[in-house]
Amino acid sequence: MTIIETYVRRHPRSRALYAEARSLFPSGVTHDGRHVSPFPLYVDHCAGSHKWDVDGHELIDYWTGHGALLLGHGHPVVVAAVQRQMERGTHYGAEHELSMHWARLVQRLFPGIERVRFTASGTEATMMALRLARAYTGKPVVLRFAGHYHGWHDMLAHDTEAEPVPAGMFGGLLESTIVAPADLDCVEAILRARDDIAAVILEPTGASYGTAPLPAGFLRELRRLTEQYGTLLICDEIVTGFRVAPGGAQQREGVTADLTTLAKVLAGGLPGGAVGGRADIMRHLEFGDDDWSRTHKIRHYGTFNAAPLSAAAGVATLELVAGGEPGACAAERGGAVIAGFNQVIRQRGLYGWAAYGDGSIFHLVAGCSSGFPPGELDPRISLNELKCGGDPALINLVRLGMINHGVDLMRGRSGFLSAAHTPADVDATIAAFAATLDTIAEEAAQPR
Ligand code: PMP
Repeated sequence: MTIIETYVRRHPRSRALYAEARSLFPSGVTHDGRHVSPFPLYVDHCAGSHKWDVDGHELIDYWTGHGALLLGHGHPVVVAAVQRQMERGTHYGAEHELSMHWARLVQRLFPGIERVRFTASGTEATMMALRLARAYTGKPVVLRFAGHYHGWHDMLAHDTEAEPVPAGMFGGLLESTIVAPADLDCVEAILRARDDIAAVILEPTGASYGTAPLPAGFLRELRRLTEQYGTLLICDEIVTGFRVAPGGAQQREGVTADLTTLAKVLAGGLPGGAVGGRADIMRHLEFGDDDWSRTHKIRHYGTFNAAPLSAAAGVATLELVAGGEPGACAAERGGAVIAGFNQVIRQRGLYGWAAYGDGSIFHLVAGCSSGFPPGELDPRISLNELKCGGDPALINLVRLGMINHGVDLMRGRSGFLSAAHTPADVDATIAAFAATLDTIAEEAAQPR
C-alpha cells in the first residue's frame, strides 16, 4: 500500500469531515497552511506534546499551536488561570489590572518596550507597527525582506516585487513597501538613496521563522544601518519572542529595536498580540489636545484587545517562560530532532535532503535541485526552494507518511518543540522519520 493509500485508509472520519467541510469553508479549511492533499487531519483533543485525531490515533504534535504553545498543550497552570478568569468574566468592557501584569512582564523581558498596546492578533500588531512608524517619521515607505511573513493584511501581504498584485489587493499600496533581499549591501544602498523610508521590518531569525536563516550578525548590522540612516527598526518577534530567549532574538543578539511586535507565546495559546517600543513613538496612540488628536493620533479600537482570557493565559505563560528554562528545554529537544533527522538522511545517502533550524524550531528540505551532500544544507539554495521544503511532492509524502507513523510535522517540513516534548517523543519522531523515508524509497522502487 502506498503512503497516500495508507493515509486514506487510516483516516476515514477525517476524510468524511473534510467532504462536509468543503460545503462550509473555501477549500474546506480555515487557514491556508492547513490545506493538504488528499485531505487534512481533524483533531479531537491535545495534551502536552500529543494530539489525538478523530479516528483515534495519538500523534506527537509539532505544530504546537502554530508556535504559540511553548509550554505544550494544556499546561495545568495556564489552564487553571484561564478557568479562574472564565468565572470572573471574559470581557469587562473596561480596563483591568491583569492587562497591567501582562504588560509589565512584556516590559521586563523586552527592555526596548517602554509602552505596550495589546491587539487581537499578530497581523494586527504588525499593521499597527507600520502605522506608528509612518505617524512618527512622517515618511510613507517601509522596507521589508523577501519571504518574511508579517501577517496577511494589505500593507505587508505582498512579498516579492516580481509578482503581480496579489488578488484582492489595491496595487497602489505596493508603492509604500520596498521588498529587499536579505543582503545588507543592498539594504544600505536603498537607505542611502532614499529619504522616504519610515522603517525596516524583519523576522529577526529569517523568513518564515528561520526557514531561510539570516547570516550571523545580520540583525546587529541592520540595527547599525537603521541608526546611521535615521530609519526605525521594527523587529517582528511574533514567533521568536519568549521562545529563542525570554527577551526574544533581541536579547539573544544584544539588539534593541524601536518597535517590537509580539503574539503567539505572548498570549499562552489564546488569541492575542502586542506592539511595543519607544515611548516617543508609542505616543502616537496617546490622546492630546485637539490639534494633536487631529493630526498625530492613531485611532485604535479592537473589541478583544487585552481580552481577559488571553491576559490570564499570557500572564501564566510568561511567568513560567521568563526564567528561560522552558525555552532552553525545547531548544535542546529541537537540536536532537535535527541531529537525528540528519543521521537518518546520511544513513540513506539522500542528496539534497537536510534538517536544520534554530533551537526549538526545526525545518526539513527534501529533494533540493542542487543535490547537496546528505544532511549538509547548501546555504546558496534559493529562498523559494527553502520555503517549499525543496520538492513539494516529496514533502507532502513526508507529511502524510509521518502522520501514518504518529507524528504531525508542521506542513510536513517544520516543527515547533515545546517544553512538554520528551526525549521519548524525540526518539519516536526520528524512528517515524526513518520508517517514512524507507516507505518513500520502497514506493519509488515500485514499477509503475
Ligand atoms: N509575523 C510573524 C513572524 C508570524 O509568524 C505570524 C504568524 N505566523 C504573524 C506575523 C501573524 O500573526 P497572526 O497569525 O497572529 O495574525
